[in-house]
Amino acid sequence: MKDSINNIAWLADATVRELIHRFPLPIALLDRDGRALVLNDRFVQLFGASLVEAAAIREVLRTSSPDWTTVRVTSLRRGAILVNVRVLHVQENLMLIIDDVADPELLARLDELQAHTTELERVSATDSLTGIWNRTHFDRVIALELDRSIRFRHPVSLIFFDVDNFKQVNDTFGHQVGDAVLQELVGLTNSTIRLIDGFYRWGGEEFVVLAASTSYWKAATLAEKIRSKVEQHTFAGAGSVTVSLGVAEHMGSEKAQDWFRRVDDALYRAKRTGRNRVCVDPQGNSDVWAAEGGWSIVHLVWRDMYECGNPTIDREHRELFDLANALFDASFSSQAAPAAYMEALDKLMNHIAQHFADEEAVLEDHGYKKLESHRKAHAGLLARAYSLRASLAAGKGTLGDLVDFLANAVIAEHLFKADKDFFSLFQKPH
Ligand code: GH3
Ligand code: MG
Ligand code: MG
Repeated sequence: MKDSINNIAWLADATVRELIHRFPLPIALLDRDGRALVLNDRFVQLFGASLVEAAAIREVLRTSSPDWTTVRVTSLRRGAILVNVRVLHVQENLMLIIDDVADPELLARLDELQAHTTELERVSATDSLTGIWNRTHFDRVIALELDRSIRFRHPVSLIFFDVDNFKQVNDTFGHQVGDAVLQELVGLTNSTIRLIDGFYRWGGEEFVVLAASTSYWKAATLAEKIRSKVEQHTFAGAGSVTVSLGVAEHMGSEKAQDWFRRVDDALYRAKRTGRNRVCVDPQGNSDVWAAEGGWSIVHLVWRDMYECGNPTIDREHRELFDLANALFDASFSSQAAPAAYMEALDKLMNHIAQHFADEEAVLEDHGYKKLESHRKAHAGLLARAYSLRASLAAGKGTLGDLVDFLANAVIAEHLFKADKDFFSLFQKPH
């Protein structure tokens, strides 16, 4: 815990530290897994040592709005209660400020605090040309990321990339065009990676993507997406530009430096063998963890807060989790027979179709106002699932695409976001 706090640059600023600790509203600074890094005096006074549910944190992470949102805080002192929080994203951490008294004067001071921390944050951690994280910030988060990877047995991968023949771009078109190329390249990459992937400028025309919960083979797919997007893009003033990429997943007890060397070697290999390509170091924890069995890269864990209070919908949502987990296990197992995962896939898809129909019926019974748009969302998701299923059967699509779609679009996006909207229809026990 101490190390993590020492990694937070702005906490080194005594004024900010003081502001947080003495702030009249409860403040909790959490890492992305919901672990408390700092609880201020008011927080401890009100809640004691508390837990903010990890699922609530993930929900908060998905909502980019800086407005007030509701999360459940469980504490010995006050039990499980729902509180209004305002969320500040601070580096890779979250600062939850709990609205205890809703005093407008305090809210104004909150804005002041936010401006202060955000500015300190921005200056110390961002690259001024491209606006993404800098190397200093990378060095700060990497230990935390590795610690999390080992603890939760989630693989973590690095993608290093370097612009091909960039010196020539500068020499031909000038340094300013070169700068603009780097900015455009950052925009393209940002639109390709996920929100939870860290993107850093390593220096010069070299960049790093830190892909959390991602094995080397998934990172290789991501790297290939970046490569192809860059290749297809026409850069203002410079035309076509390509990048070479190296990929490596972190291995067990390996030192960070050794990991960087492996990914650097992979990048060097991509350069040496002709540029505009991805080279992968095919080793990593994900293989070992997968071989231990009973484990897969993605596993959904049911939490009480996903319950909406309607027994039919809740039972079917739980079953959805079980069937999805069965599919993830089948698809990630090293000797997965296509028949086994196709069977798991069809079971899941049949269940989703049935569940959507049942859910619509329940919502109709309860006079849900947004039923029509919800129905449309269901129909769209089903159509997309069936079309991916058909491509897969025709040997075109990949199972990965379909699994990603089911995990992200159906479960993460729809179930956790769209469905949440109707939770208030049902009586939910607290
Ligand atoms: P390779 O394919 O082997 O990577 O060739 P390269 O020409 O890209 O490699 P080299 O390392 O020789 O050249 C990198 C160039 O990138 C040299 C440097 O002037 C330029 N560069 C580094 N940072 C910046 C920057 O911020 N802006 C601009 N415009 N150029 C930069
Ligand atoms: Mg270079
Ligand atoms: Mg280069």
